[in-house]
Amino acid sequence: MKIARVMFTLPLPEPFDYEVPDDFDVVPGSYVRVPLGPNERTGVVWDVFENAEEARDLKSVYMVYPAPPMPKSVRDFVDWSARYTCSNPGAVLRMVLRVPSALVPSRTQTVLEKGNAEVARMTPARARVLELIDQFPPLTAAELAQEAGVSTSVVKGLADQGVLSRSERLIDMPYEMPAPLDGVHALTDEQSEAADLLRQRVRGDAFSVTLIDGVTGSGKTEVYFEAIAEVLTSHPQGQVLILLPEIALTQAIMKRFEARFGAKPTEWHSGLSDAERRRAWREVAHGRARIVIGARSALFLPFPNLKLAVVDEEHDGSFKQEEGVIYHARNLCVARAKFEAFSVILASATPALESLHNAQQGRYGYVKLAARPGASRLPDVSLVDLRSDPPERDEWLSPVLARAMAENLEAQEQSLIFLNRRGYAPLVICKACGDRLTAPGTHNWLTEHRYTGRLVCHLTGFSMRRPSACPKCGARDSLMGVGPGIERVAEEIRRKLPQARLELLSSDTVQSGDDIRALIHRMETGQIDVLIGTQMIAKGHNFPGLTLVGVVDADASLKGGDLRAGERTFQLLSQVAGRAGRADKPGRAMLQTYQPEAPLMVALAGSDRDSFLAVEDEMRDVMGMPPHGRLAALILSFPDDQEAARLAREIGMMAPNAESVDVWGPAPAPISLLRGRYRWRFLVRADLNVDLSAYMSAWRKALKLPAQARLQIDIDPYSF
Ligand code: ADP
Repeated sequence: MKIARVMFTLPLPEPFDYEVPDDFDVVPGSYVRVPLGPNERTGVVWDVFENAEEARDLKSVYMVYPAPPMPKSVRDFVDWSARYTCSNPGAVLRMVLRVPSALVPSRTQTVLEKGNAEVARMTPARARVLELIDQFPPLTAAELAQEAGVSTSVVKGLADQGVLSRSERLIDMPYEMPAPLDGVHALTDEQSEAADLLRQRVRGDAFSVTLIDGVTGSGKTEVYFEAIAEVLTSHPQGQVLILLPEIALTQAIMKRFEARFGAKPTEWHSGLSDAERRRAWREVAHGRARIVIGARSALFLPFPNLKLAVVDEEHDGSFKQEEGVIYHARNLCVARAKFEAFSVILASATPALESLHNAQQGRYGYVKLAARPGASRLPDVSLVDLRSDPPERDEWLSPVLARAMAENLEAQEQSLIFLNRRGYAPLVICKACGDRLTAPGTHNWLTEHRYTGRLVCHLTGFSMRRPSACPKCGARDSLMGVGPGIERVAEEIRRKLPQARLELLSSDTVQSGDDIRALIHRMETGQIDVLIGTQMIAKGHNFPGLTLVGVVDADASLKGGDLRAGERTFQLLSQVAGRAGRADKPGRAMLQTYQPEAPLMVALAGSDRDSFLAVEDEMRDVMGMPPHGRLAALILSFPDDQEAARLAREIGMMAPNAESVDVWGPAPAPISLLRGRYRWRFLVRADLNVDLSAYMSAWRKALKLPAQARLQIDIDPYSF
């Protein structure tokens, strides 16, 4: 008896066995339909084996989908990812098989090609059709008739006689990828050298990782395009994946790809409709999609022939998925590359400490782009000391920055003001009773939004109309917004520069991709004088007329104080500052800070990243933290306050003893109350030679917890 071991997209600990009927063609990787409990489900065959004993009473496979089997390397990657992230393989498989309906074959249509029969009686109309038939790929009768300028009956007549032959074509069969076009720019010497090295590294069928470390605007994209072109030419079936932070999936980059490669890449992100998703999945699984651009989840698509993955802005926090299977797409991409022997290119102006460390150790190749091409120069970064140059009461822009903005407006150049706080005020207090308004069931402050007239919790999504009286003491007109959000700073700018054309960009002020694109277009074409925004404006856009960047609160993201806060702040602020000055206009950036002497600020002002990172790296080394050690987090959540604390202590006592592993906690998690659940956290540090995933899984296995308790394991936590 032939038995198939089937994995489902369900969080089950084990695959299930099914009997394979004799006439079914089932191989490892086949997608099958099988009974499960009272239902039917789609699953993937993980393994096939013969069982001589015939004794087992198994249910049978119902159906095999006519889709290419999932390659072994992809199944191995699923197994490995599950183990690494301490998840069930089924939960990982669910990310690969996001659209089971994509397995059903798509509709077909009839197309015509040259047939065998000779034409019996030639007419001018028939001659026109026959002239054309070799010049096009197979077309439908209607398409062919239109091209030839004849009626469809002429075409059909030829097909009936066998002069044209009919065949079936999948409707969503996409273009053949045309040969890459030439690069748009002549590369600079530095860029050519980088491109040569990359081409060499991506040419073979070997695992490799290369880091492109280049200042914003130095041509990183231009250079990795060369590597992509190399892969497309040297591997006629090869596929290329480009992972971008979700936010950067703008049409601008799609257009650049189209201009360079002659066809639109396949997109994969949360904005797709079901039909688009189905189609994209099928194109990838059948190997027809040669270039795929996507957000982090595109990493799990079942590419049969992936040859190169590019992770652009590799340091970006949005590559970390924090729910369900918790993973970092950059890290898992490198892991997948090992299973499938392909090349990875990481690109960033501010690479993660981990990636730089790997490059220094020789594990990754390294390419540096130090200059912007042509006359374009890096912005001049200066610090504004808020202690000696403070803003007026209830204002947030210091006189120096305000003056620079006024001068810029005078010179008809654009300014960008960055503040990573949505809304009007990040905190609302009652002047009568002193209460700070929080979202129900949490300790999170409510943010005041004037644009929508609401108070909003940015963590839970809770929102309410701004009340006219304090919900606690009932005093009327006593509520007051404290601190600045971008709406409030916009108000100040309107007061100071009433003639400026001012716009706001945050997730509250623009709703759809179309809104964002329209706003970006207005900025690109000089229809905006001052743009104020949150981190949505930090990356990915080139604004040729932008010459001044002002950062309202450069200290903001340092306040959380976790291990990576310094590194992250440096990355964010360099990125924001890098928006200023492109093409022929020099730019400048002004950072408002209360601690201009802090090493991070000094490094930003001197554009001296390397000495800042050297200090960070040394600190991590001393503490045995990544990249010099491993880190994981365990988070318990429970609906009751007291019981949560008690359970957390109990979990702590069950932590296995292991050499070179330190367990810290329990401590209240950074978000200590979320959706009515109290959260406690352990941080676990280990030396590099420890299998920390195995340790965490063993710990979880040893626990017996009440049903309402929830545990989350986060390997390589990004913020903590
Ligand atoms: P990065 O990815 O490093 O930010 P890009 O590849 O986006 O840099 O290049 C920045 C800008 O400079 C783009 O508008 C690009 O078209 C242009 N550019 C890049 N290389 C050259 C070159 N060799 N000559 C002229 N323009 C270039």
